[in-house]
Amino acid sequence: MSTEFPDPDAGLAVYAALQSTSRGRNFAEPPHPYRGEFQRDRDRIVHSGAFRRLVYKTQVFVNHEGDLYRTRLTHSLEVAQIARTIARALDLNEQLVEAICLAHDLGHTPFGHAGQDSLNACMQDFGGFEHNLQSLRVVDELEDKYARFPGLNLSYETREGMLKHCSRRNARELGELGKRFLEGGQPGLEAQLANLADEIADNHHDVDDGLRAGLLSIDDLSSVALFSDQFDIVSSEFSDSSERVLTHETVRGMINRIVTDLLDTSRAALNLARPADIEDVRGRPRPLIGFSPEVYEEHRALKRFLQKSLYRHERVLSMTERADKIVTGLFDVYFSDPATMPEEHATKVVTWEQELGDAGRARAVADYVAGMTDRYALSAYHRLVDATLKF
Ligand code: MG
Repeated sequence: MSTEFPDPDAGLAVYAALQSTSRGRNFAEPPHPYRGEFQRDRDRIVHSGAFRRLVYKTQVFVNHEGDLYRTRLTHSLEVAQIARTIARALDLNEQLVEAICLAHDLGHTPFGHAGQDSLNACMQDFGGFEHNLQSLRVVDELEDKYARFPGLNLSYETREGMLKHCSRRNARELGELGKRFLEGGQPGLEAQLANLADEIADNHHDVDDGLRAGLLSIDDLSSVALFSDQFDIVSSEFSDSSERVLTHETVRGMINRIVTDLLDTSRAALNLARPADIEDVRGRPRPLIGFSPEVYEEHRALKRFLQKSLYRHERVLSMTERADKIVTGLFDVYFSDPATMPEEHATKVVTWEQELGDAGRARAVADYVAGMTDRYALSAYHRLVDATLKF
């Protein structure tokens, strides 16, 4: 038996992100004897504190509403599952795509998008708050556990994939990593794929969760082609099955259809474009991973439907109001009296304030609040602001 470590790039397409052409880590490290660099990235993410906290962060439904709903953790796992399947079929880098997917939501605040909007409002005068950029801050700076470097010191390609959006102002401060938001260009194919897998997972698990919660009905969904086509197929094939089984078979068929479309369309685009390597992919004006126009339109129609019927449902909106109260309340208390924060965060407030004034003080508070789980934020709010708030 050979003791040689197998080449981590073996079997990958020339246009995949390869370890041999990686732009590397901010702090150079010796290679590991039997793990590739993107595998190490994935492993570091799984062992991070921010990753563990995703289990108690809201995706759409607050964790304590029921044990069956998606949390940010199970969402991230579903995104990774979808993206890995496609990466493997296209000979892209499965280890990298998994690392990106597992890390993509690490910077999310408690209480889903509601929490993020509130924190962004609190930070308006201090540079704002973007959850994508926050995910990068988590892996670059805030995870504090390695002796030799700050953060997780991930590879450039993993960090590139995590930064799905970025404002021009923030992009200017990111150097090489921010360039594509200023000058155009694309990230690598694994990043393009992770981005779409995130959207696919969102749409489909929200249909499933929305039906389970009774906020959506099969009747409502019959106006959405992506759903109704599959529902008709499975309900004629399995006419004796329960509604729960039919729903699951429908969502399963929907994912299968859209993933197959993405795979076929992307494979055809890659065959046509024949990019020479990842740099060639990065220099293109448009992404090469994508849906056919027809399926893309259906995907967007489902997204619009969920916007209207689920994310703006009164039960979800009433969570939004309470989330805003909690996030804003905590931000204000910590900003005016940092001594109420745990010592390591209170110390950061002092150090960053000396360096950057109020903006530094606010950033340290935002980092602390953003890192909280839903239940941690709620208990802090009960202790420091209002013990009577019901959630
Ligand atoms: Mg996501």
